[in-house]
Amino acid sequence: MAVPGRNPCHRPGVRPQGLHPAEAVLARAALARWPTLAEELEAELQYRKCGHLLLAENEVEAEHLQSFVQRQHELGFADVAFLDRKEVFRLVPGLGEQVTAGSFSPASGQADPRLTTRAFATAAQRQGASYWTSTACLALQRVADRVVGAQTGRGLVQAEQIVLAAGAWLFHER
Ligand SMILES: Cc1cc2nc3c(=O)[nH]c(=O)nc-3n(C[C@H](O)[C@H](O)[C@H](O)COP(=O)(O)OP(=O)(O)OC[C@H]3O[C@@H](n4cnc5c(N)ncnc54)[C@H](O)[C@@H]3O)c2cc1C
Repeated sequence: MAVPGRNPCHRPGVRPQGLHPAEAVLARAALARWPTLAEELEAELQYRKCGHLLLAENEVEAEHLQSFVQRQHELGFADVAFLDRKEVFRLVPGLGEQVTAGSFSPASGQADPRLTTRAFATAAQRQGASYWTSTACLALQRVADRVVGAQTGRGLVQAEQIVLAAGAWLFHER
Protein backbone atom coordinates (compact mmCIF):
# COMPACT_ATOMS: atom_id res chain seq x y z
CA MET A 1 0.00 0.00 0.00
CA ALA A 2 1.04 3.61 -0.44
CA VAL A 3 1.51 5.55 2.74
CA PRO A 4 -1.25 8.18 3.20
CA GLY A 5 0.05 11.68 3.71
CA ARG A 6 3.14 10.98 1.66
CA ASN A 7 1.38 10.46 -1.63
CA PRO A 8 -2.28 11.28 -2.14
CA CYS A 9 -2.56 9.54 -5.51
CA HIS A 10 -3.16 5.84 -6.08
CA ARG A 11 -0.95 4.48 -8.83
CA PRO A 12 0.63 1.15 -9.71
CA GLY A 13 3.63 0.30 -7.64
CA VAL A 14 7.32 0.70 -8.35
CA ARG A 15 8.21 -1.96 -5.83
CA PRO A 16 10.54 -4.91 -5.39
CA GLN A 17 8.76 -6.49 -2.41
CA GLY A 18 7.46 -9.98 -3.23
CA LEU A 19 8.96 -10.37 -6.69
CA HIS A 20 10.20 -13.70 -8.03
CA PRO A 21 13.95 -14.07 -7.32
CA ALA A 22 14.59 -14.28 -11.09
CA GLU A 23 13.35 -10.67 -11.37
CA ALA A 24 15.67 -9.33 -8.66
CA VAL A 25 18.55 -8.15 -10.87
CA LEU A 26 16.19 -6.28 -13.18
CA ALA A 27 14.19 -4.87 -10.25
CA ARG A 28 17.33 -3.56 -8.50
CA ALA A 29 18.44 -1.84 -11.71
CA ALA A 30 14.95 -0.39 -12.26
CA LEU A 31 14.67 0.87 -8.68
CA ALA A 32 18.00 2.70 -9.03
CA ARG A 33 16.92 4.22 -12.37
CA TRP A 34 13.43 5.45 -11.41
CA PRO A 35 14.50 8.61 -9.50
CA THR A 36 16.17 10.05 -12.64
CA LEU A 37 14.00 8.34 -15.29
CA ALA A 38 11.76 11.37 -15.95
CA GLU A 39 14.85 13.47 -16.65
CA GLU A 40 16.33 10.74 -18.85
CA LEU A 41 13.11 10.35 -20.88
CA GLU A 42 12.32 14.10 -20.77
CA ALA A 43 8.75 13.42 -19.65
CA GLU A 44 6.43 13.60 -16.63
CA LEU A 45 5.92 10.08 -15.22
CA GLN A 46 4.20 11.09 -11.96
CA TYR A 47 6.79 9.04 -10.10
CA ARG A 48 6.74 9.42 -6.32
CA LYS A 49 9.13 7.65 -3.97
CA CYS A 50 6.50 7.13 -1.28
CA GLY A 51 7.38 3.64 0.00
CA HIS A 52 5.55 0.30 -0.06
CA LEU A 53 4.12 -1.39 3.00
CA LEU A 54 2.98 -5.01 3.42
CA LEU A 55 0.89 -5.85 6.47
CA ALA A 56 0.47 -8.84 8.79
CA GLU A 57 -2.83 -9.30 10.62
CA ASN A 58 -1.85 -12.01 13.09
CA GLU A 59 1.25 -13.52 14.69
CA VAL A 60 1.67 -16.25 12.04
CA GLU A 61 1.64 -13.66 9.25
CA ALA A 62 4.06 -11.51 11.26
CA GLU A 63 6.49 -14.46 11.47
CA HIS A 64 6.15 -14.97 7.70
CA LEU A 65 6.91 -11.28 7.18
CA GLN A 66 10.05 -11.58 9.28
CA SER A 67 11.47 -14.36 7.08
CA PHE A 68 10.15 -12.52 3.99
CA VAL A 69 12.24 -9.44 4.98
CA GLN A 70 15.29 -11.69 5.41
CA ARG A 71 14.77 -13.06 1.86
CA GLN A 72 14.41 -9.51 0.50
CA HIS A 73 17.81 -8.66 2.01
CA GLU A 74 19.33 -11.78 0.43
CA LEU A 75 17.99 -10.59 -2.95
CA GLY A 76 19.75 -7.24 -2.46
CA PHE A 77 16.79 -5.09 -1.34
CA ALA A 78 18.54 -3.72 1.73
CA ASP A 79 15.99 -0.98 2.37
CA VAL A 80 13.15 -3.41 3.27
CA ALA A 81 12.63 -3.35 7.03
CA PHE A 82 10.45 -5.36 9.40
CA LEU A 83 8.22 -3.04 11.47
CA ASP A 84 6.56 -4.08 14.71
CA ARG A 85 2.98 -3.02 15.46
CA LYS A 86 4.01 0.28 17.07
CA GLU A 87 6.22 1.24 14.13
CA VAL A 88 3.51 0.36 11.58
CA PHE A 89 0.96 2.55 13.39
CA ARG A 90 3.48 5.40 13.64
CA LEU A 91 3.83 5.19 9.84
CA VAL A 92 0.09 4.77 9.10
CA PRO A 93 -1.99 5.86 12.11
CA GLY A 94 -5.39 4.97 10.60
CA LEU A 95 -4.89 1.22 10.21
CA GLY A 96 -7.28 -1.39 11.61
CA GLU A 97 -6.65 -2.80 15.08
CA GLN A 98 -5.98 -6.30 13.66
CA VAL A 99 -2.64 -5.21 12.14
CA THR A 100 0.24 -6.84 14.01
CA ALA A 101 3.34 -5.97 11.94
CA GLY A 102 4.57 -4.85 8.54
CA SER A 103 7.45 -4.80 6.11
CA PHE A 104 8.30 -1.42 4.64
CA SER A 105 10.40 -0.53 1.61
CA PRO A 106 11.14 3.24 1.60
CA ALA A 107 12.90 2.97 -1.78
CA SER A 108 9.63 1.92 -3.44
CA GLY A 109 7.03 4.22 -4.93
CA GLN A 110 4.42 4.71 -7.59
CA ALA A 111 4.22 6.01 -11.15
CA ASP A 112 1.76 6.33 -14.00
CA PRO A 113 2.25 3.32 -16.32
CA ARG A 114 0.52 4.98 -19.30
CA LEU A 115 2.71 8.09 -19.12
CA THR A 116 5.78 5.91 -18.63
CA THR A 117 5.04 3.63 -21.60
CA ARG A 118 4.44 6.63 -23.87
CA ALA A 119 7.58 8.34 -22.56
CA PHE A 120 9.72 5.31 -23.45
CA ALA A 121 8.13 5.15 -26.91
CA THR A 122 8.64 8.86 -27.56
CA ALA A 123 12.25 8.75 -26.33
CA ALA A 124 12.92 5.76 -28.60
CA GLN A 125 11.39 7.64 -31.54
CA ARG A 126 13.66 10.62 -30.81
CA GLN A 127 16.55 8.17 -31.19
CA GLY A 128 15.22 7.06 -34.59
CA ALA A 129 13.08 4.07 -33.61
CA SER A 130 9.81 3.25 -35.39
CA TYR A 131 6.93 2.66 -32.99
CA TRP A 132 3.92 0.78 -34.33
CA THR A 133 0.76 0.10 -32.38
CA SER A 134 -2.03 -2.32 -33.41
CA THR A 135 0.50 -4.38 -35.36
CA ALA A 136 0.53 -8.12 -34.72
CA CYS A 137 3.69 -10.18 -34.89
CA LEU A 138 2.50 -13.20 -36.87
CA ALA A 139 5.66 -15.32 -36.99
CA LEU A 140 9.38 -15.20 -36.36
CA GLN A 141 11.78 -15.70 -39.27
CA ARG A 142 14.66 -18.05 -38.50
CA VAL A 143 17.91 -18.82 -40.30
CA ALA A 144 19.65 -21.87 -38.77
CA ASP A 145 19.57 -21.25 -35.00
CA ARG A 146 19.11 -17.47 -35.24
CA VAL A 147 15.93 -15.38 -35.31
CA VAL A 148 16.56 -12.74 -37.97
CA GLY A 149 13.15 -11.23 -38.54
CA ALA A 150 9.52 -10.91 -37.58
CA GLN A 151 6.58 -11.26 -39.93
CA THR A 152 4.12 -8.55 -38.91
CA GLY A 153 0.78 -7.20 -40.07
CA ARG A 154 2.80 -4.48 -41.82
CA GLY A 155 5.21 -6.85 -43.52
CA LEU A 156 8.54 -8.48 -42.72
CA VAL A 157 10.91 -6.66 -40.36
CA GLN A 158 14.50 -7.90 -40.31
CA ALA A 159 17.01 -7.02 -37.62
CA GLU A 160 20.30 -8.09 -36.08
CA GLN A 161 18.56 -8.59 -32.75
CA ILE A 162 14.93 -9.39 -31.98
CA VAL A 163 13.47 -9.13 -28.48
CA LEU A 164 10.44 -11.28 -27.74
CA ALA A 165 8.45 -9.22 -25.20
CA ALA A 166 4.93 -10.52 -25.79
CA GLY A 167 4.26 -11.10 -22.09
CA ALA A 168 4.20 -14.17 -19.87
CA TRP A 169 0.58 -14.87 -20.84
CA LEU A 170 1.70 -15.90 -24.34
CA PHE A 171 3.22 -19.07 -22.90
CA HIS A 172 0.25 -19.76 -20.62
CA GLU A 173 -2.19 -19.61 -23.52
CA ARG A 174 -0.39 -22.06 -25.80
C1 LIG B 1 -3.72 -6.83 -11.99
C2 LIG B 1 -2.23 -6.58 -12.16
C3 LIG B 1 -1.63 -5.59 -11.40
C4 LIG B 1 -0.26 -5.36 -11.53
N1 LIG B 1 0.31 -4.36 -10.78
C5 LIG B 1 1.61 -4.09 -10.95
C6 LIG B 1 2.22 -3.00 -10.22
O1 LIG B 1 1.57 -2.30 -9.44
N2 LIG B 1 3.54 -2.77 -10.43
C7 LIG B 1 4.29 -3.55 -11.29
O2 LIG B 1 5.49 -3.29 -11.43
N3 LIG B 1 3.75 -4.57 -11.99
C8 LIG B 1 2.44 -4.85 -11.83
N4 LIG B 1 1.88 -5.89 -12.53
C9 LIG B 1 2.74 -6.70 -13.40
C10 LIG B 1 3.00 -5.99 -14.72
O3 LIG B 1 1.78 -5.62 -15.30
C11 LIG B 1 3.78 -6.95 -15.65
O4 LIG B 1 4.92 -7.41 -14.97
C12 LIG B 1 4.21 -6.21 -16.92
O5 LIG B 1 3.10 -5.69 -17.59
C13 LIG B 1 4.95 -7.17 -17.84
O6 LIG B 1 5.37 -6.41 -18.93
P1 LIG B 1 5.74 -7.08 -20.29
O7 LIG B 1 6.12 -5.96 -21.22
O8 LIG B 1 6.71 -8.19 -20.07
O9 LIG B 1 4.40 -7.80 -20.79
P2 LIG B 1 2.95 -7.20 -21.09
O10 LIG B 1 2.68 -5.96 -20.32
O11 LIG B 1 2.02 -8.38 -20.95
O12 LIG B 1 3.05 -6.74 -22.62
C14 LIG B 1 3.10 -7.67 -23.68
C15 LIG B 1 2.48 -7.01 -24.90
O13 LIG B 1 2.71 -7.83 -26.04
C16 LIG B 1 1.55 -7.79 -26.84
N5 LIG B 1 1.55 -9.00 -27.70
C17 LIG B 1 1.36 -10.30 -27.35
N6 LIG B 1 1.43 -11.08 -28.43
C18 LIG B 1 1.66 -10.27 -29.50
C19 LIG B 1 1.81 -10.51 -30.91
N7 LIG B 1 1.79 -11.73 -31.46
N8 LIG B 1 2.02 -9.43 -31.70
C20 LIG B 1 2.09 -8.16 -31.18
N9 LIG B 1 1.94 -7.89 -29.86
C21 LIG B 1 1.73 -8.93 -29.04
C22 LIG B 1 0.40 -7.78 -25.83
O14 LIG B 1 -0.77 -7.28 -26.46
C23 LIG B 1 0.96 -6.82 -24.78
O15 LIG B 1 0.65 -5.47 -25.08
C24 LIG B 1 0.52 -6.14 -12.43
C25 LIG B 1 -0.11 -7.14 -13.19
C26 LIG B 1 -1.46 -7.36 -13.07
C27 LIG B 1 -2.11 -8.45 -13.93
